[in-house]
Amino acid sequence: MQDILVMKFGGTSVGSAERMKGAARLSAQQKLRRPVVTVVSAMSGITDLLLDSMRHAEAGDSHGLETGIQALQDRHLEACRQLLPPHQRDAVLGGIHSLIADFQRITNGMLMLGERPPRSVDEAVAIGERLSTLLMAAYLESEGVRAIAINAADLIVTDAVYGNASPLLEPTRANVRKNLLPWIEGGVLPVVTGFNGATADGRPTTLGRGGSDFSASILAAALDAAELWIWTDVDGIMTADPRLVPGAAVLEEVTYNEAAELAYNGAKVLHPRTLAPLVERQIPVWSKNSFAPEKPGTKIVPSLQGRFGARAVTSTSKVALISIEPAGDTSIGGQVMGRALDALGRANVEVLALSSSSFRQSFCFLVRAEELRAAMEGLEAALSLELTHGYLRPIDVDESVGLLAVVGEGMRGTAGLAGRIFTAISRENVNIIAIAQGSSELTISIVVHRDGLEKAVRAVHAECRMGV
Ligand code: ADP
Ligand code: ASP
Ligand code: MG
Repeated sequence: MQDILVMKFGGTSVGSAERMKGAARLSAQQKLRRPVVTVVSAMSGITDLLLDSMRHAEAGDSHGLETGIQALQDRHLEACRQLLPPHQRDAVLGGIHSLIADFQRITNGMLMLGERPPRSVDEAVAIGERLSTLLMAAYLESEGVRAIAINAADLIVTDAVYGNASPLLEPTRANVRKNLLPWIEGGVLPVVTGFNGATADGRPTTLGRGGSDFSASILAAALDAAELWIWTDVDGIMTADPRLVPGAAVLEEVTYNEAAELAYNGAKVLHPRTLAPLVERQIPVWSKNSFAPEKPGTKIVPSLQGRFGARAVTSTSKVALISIEPAGDTSIGGQVMGRALDALGRANVEVLALSSSSFRQSFCFLVRAEELRAAMEGLEAALSLELTHGYLRPIDVDESVGLLAVVGEGMRGTAGLAGRIFTAISRENVNIIAIAQGSSELTISIVVHRDGLEKAVRAVHAECRMGV
């Protein structure tokens, strides 16, 4: 099927009945022109609420759990009342109650066991998206647009890494042909859950926090879609997070590589894995503001004409720095580094930045905070001999750091730029702990003390004149 448009609406873009109406309108408008598939997140705050309720269940706090379930119910019933006239509510109310009953069943199990098995968490947390798709599809129908709510567990096939699953594209394509394409061909607007999938044998999984962007790109690739539009609450991909840098400007166009680097280094506007499925087919992506749909947004494209230098700065504080250092004048550094990286690879830990000193043979690398435990277990097992015999100092972990990344195609070719960036950060009295320029051609990664992170971001943004 030709010219399919996949649209994804984030949590704030479906966060209330009013916002859902807006998202439905945008979907319906485009559907007049071409086939549309709409992917939706849970209403804003719902995923956190579900995860929180499960934590209460695990801790044996039945009151906390009940309060969570009540809030879940109130929010969706209220939205339903505002979206649909009374005579059209029955089927949807039934659907809402049955999904909430599912959540109750799963969390009661957790309460009894005092445990939160990852597989059950994934099944339960996806209920947020199932509720929002149900409401959105019902509202579209009530407005005369033929629509159907679809659970992505019937489309996206993943591995069994609960909480952070990866898609398997071939079986996903087969499912999409069987369970999604016939609806599109029949002129129906499918409203698909973001965030979730299932293993080939049907066990529910999720794609990581913020994963609805990724769901939409997986479906766009599987459908060979013409375009993907990601609707969010800012005007597009900006030179910095506007919450940190008031003068941040919208970028008209960025390359897949730039967008991927920004996402990977903490720019929440895109889930880090969103672009991977699209690059091969060169499917263009737009990031747009559902609160101001008339604005052009940002187009993500394969390449740009000319060289542009430093274009955006991003940061994340959810990281930890691990340092490994030989105890004396040994020459074991090189092989220790090889084994350390190998251990991290096997533990599925991503190294965000790596820096080494050849003289001391010491090295340090940055990992995501949520992967720190797995990293340390892997490292301590792989280096246990050296650690026990005192060839290495005890592994040092610094959790009070943050990562700042400056991104721009062609940036490395700009003479003196790195120096200007470092000077701008130092001028703010922020200490630079480590620098990793080598990780990619278009990114300079800088580790600083967390307290100085926001100041450093603003200083770099101003120094490189990125803003308006
Ligand atoms: P959604 O719920 O629509 O997926 P998110 O909250 O996940 O939205 O992402 C949008 C947010 O990303 C914005 O509100 C903004 O604060 C943040 N953000 C971080 N870095 C950037 C950036 N470089 N450009 C735009 N937004 C950014
Ligand atoms: N609802 C999920 C989350 O909050 C996925 C998403 O919004 O993209 O993480
Ligand atoms: Mg998001």
